[in-house]
Amino acid sequence: ELTINRIAAGEVIHRPASAIKEMLENSIDAGATFVTITLAAGGLKLLEIADNGHGIRCEDLPLVCERFATSKLTAYADLQSIATFGFRGEALASISHVARVTVTTATAGAQCAFRATYADGKLVPEPGGSSAAPRACARTVGTTITVEDLFANTPTRRRAMRSASDEYARVLDVVGKYALAYPHVAMAVRKAGSGAAGAGHADLTTRGSVDARAAVRAVHGGALAQKLLAAESSDEAYGLRVSLLCSDANWAAKRPSVVVFVNGRLVECAPLAAAIEREYSPFLPRGAHPFALLQLSAPAARVDVNVHPTKADVLLADEGEAIALVQNAARAALGDANS
Ligand code: ADP
Ligand code: MG
Repeated sequence: ELTINRIAAGEVIHRPASAIKEMLENSIDAGATFVTITLAAGGLKLLEIADNGHGIRCEDLPLVCERFATSKLTAYADLQSIATFGFRGEALASISHVARVTVTTATAGAQCAFRATYADGKLVPEPGGSSAAPRACARTVGTTITVEDLFANTPTRRRAMRSASDEYARVLDVVGKYALAYPHVAMAVRKAGSGAAGAGHADLTTRGSVDARAAVRAVHGGALAQKLLAAESSDEAYGLRVSLLCSDANWAAKRPSVVVFVNGRLVECAPLAAAIEREYSPFLPRGAHPFALLQLSAPAARVDVNVHPTKADVLLADEGEAIALVQNAARAALGDANS
């Protein structure tokens, strides 16, 4: 049964970047405004994420890595979002099946912090320890999740990994995208040993700002940040809202650079990305692409994620209306700039 769980977990957590995406979403869900990510060997040896979110209560620690254990199913609206995001309470469980997980966490009311270690969904003693129970320790309010030796117990998955530097680049890419969508959350990514947290060199740093342009500057540089256009568009009848931050018609990328968030989650949605590209095609040379951060909010029940959770391919029940909105927003942004 353990083998089956590990294979299943490897389907949910493909690589360090997919583990980071899940953990970063958890930090954001916990209200964090500060997230620091540290990696060794591209995240395969060590992958650590520390946040200043609301933390996890000690009595909840035994369940954190249990399958389908989630603290986020409180209302009917949340039940609908199970349909939206396909799986709930599976991320940490999956990670614990393919790595050793340590959670160090403190909540605002608690006397002290607690640390717990997990393997295969269950609390286990720390290396050299005898008791699996959470141990009292010191920490400010928030949560640190440490993932060690990812895929060490699943050799086929491990062999499918590219180089550490390639995995590291994928982590930077996914964190960079979340940094744009959540500009008020200060994020940093660094390699282990590159200096103490907060001090040494980080490969990606955002400072936390209400202004998404500041995040674009931090992630993509000033050349793009200076050429940003913005527009919003909404469709009351369908409950759709689009917010678009995009490059002007004189800026071009060599690679597709449309980033799509639906209901706050990074997803793939080719029809929406194509709608943006179409609006820019009269302005850009062949093979050149615009940058766009496209954020769509839609009623949870009208959004469907494909069978495969990590592909994050999203299907919209009201795709035609959403495309029309995206077109409107892109035209408004480009039109304002040209007039
Ligand atoms: P889900 O996010 O779908 O609830 P996860 O497996 O990602 O499932 O996380 C399980 C639970 O662990 C969450 O519901 C939450 O209660 C808790 N949790 C995980 N990470 C954090 C964090 N950084 N801060 C606070 N709580 C967390
Ligand atoms: Mg989660």
